[in-house]
Amino acid sequence: MSLLVVGSVAFDALETPFGKVDRTLGGAATYFSVAASCFTPVNLVGVVGEDFTAQDEKVFQGRRIDISGLERAAGKTFFWAGRYGADPNDRVTLVTELNVFETFRPRIPERFRKSRNIFLANIDPVLQRSVLEQIDGKPRIVALDTMNYWIEKTPAELRGILRHTNILMINDAETRMLANEHNLLRAARHIFKLGPKTLIIKRGEHGALMVHKDWVFAVPALPLEEVHDPTGAGDSFGGGFMGYLASVPRVTDAALRRAMVYGSVMGSFAVERFGLERLRRVTRKDINARARHFAALTQFEL
Ligand code: AMP
Repeated sequence: MSLLVVGSVAFDALETPFGKVDRTLGGAATYFSVAASCFTPVNLVGVVGEDFTAQDEKVFQGRRIDISGLERAAGKTFFWAGRYGADPNDRVTLVTELNVFETFRPRIPERFRKSRNIFLANIDPVLQRSVLEQIDGKPRIVALDTMNYWIEKTPAELRGILRHTNILMINDAETRMLANEHNLLRAARHIFKLGPKTLIIKRGEHGALMVHKDWVFAVPALPLEEVHDPTGAGDSFGGGFMGYLASVPRVTDAALRRAMVYGSVMGSFAVERFGLERLRRVTRKDINARARHFAALTQFEL
């Protein structure tokens, strides 16, 4: 089933205890689509500048990613610089240059308008809303990511799009901020009143929590000896999660739980190397082996 992602395609500068890169391809929609395309075809809508070359585009080639909705605008591609300390959950944003993103107005190509599964990556909630307005019919899943900036600066606009969201995927700090409540389960109850039926709380090296009206499900992060670069873990998680769900005929509770595992599998690959270096080489065999590893990691008898 069709999967549409709208979000950033970026150049990132990254600094972690394992090294430093000045310019590598990144962006939420990039990580998401590379991860999701391991499960299902993906349609990408975003914008890049004149500095985005044929070489950069190679990351999408040979995969099931349709980039005909990737607009090319005059100016420079979105640029983000971040630094991590010894704790991979501890990230400092050093630079955010919106560049071509500043004037970006997503235009959903005609043939993507019937998309049944939609991931609205972290962008201005007004733009997220405009994407949904261009979709024909009622999608099966609308999943959304956002960040502290939008929660603080545009709360009304964010509430507007949350009313049309089924699955909200944010981190623990964002959950607390959005609900104005420290306890994550109580925060989830507040968030359900805003629209989403399912809340996925991404907790970095502590794994991910899925809260539903009647149940909670948790997946740990895979214990790894070396986490070279946490960038993109959340979006790769989103890609694995949504890619898997788009590939199954029905969104059952069991499918949502398996999607949590496939999300965690893709996140674990993303952090092993800088940028997209590891994620872009992942095979279906690697994914299956790691999913079994997750099953073994959490299996016990009572
Ligand atoms: P994450 O999965 O949260 O680690 O996402 C990392 C990616 O998000 C990086 O590759 C950045 O280029 C991108 N990013 C960072 N800040 C923003 C922003 N304000 N809007 C859109 N994308 C962003």
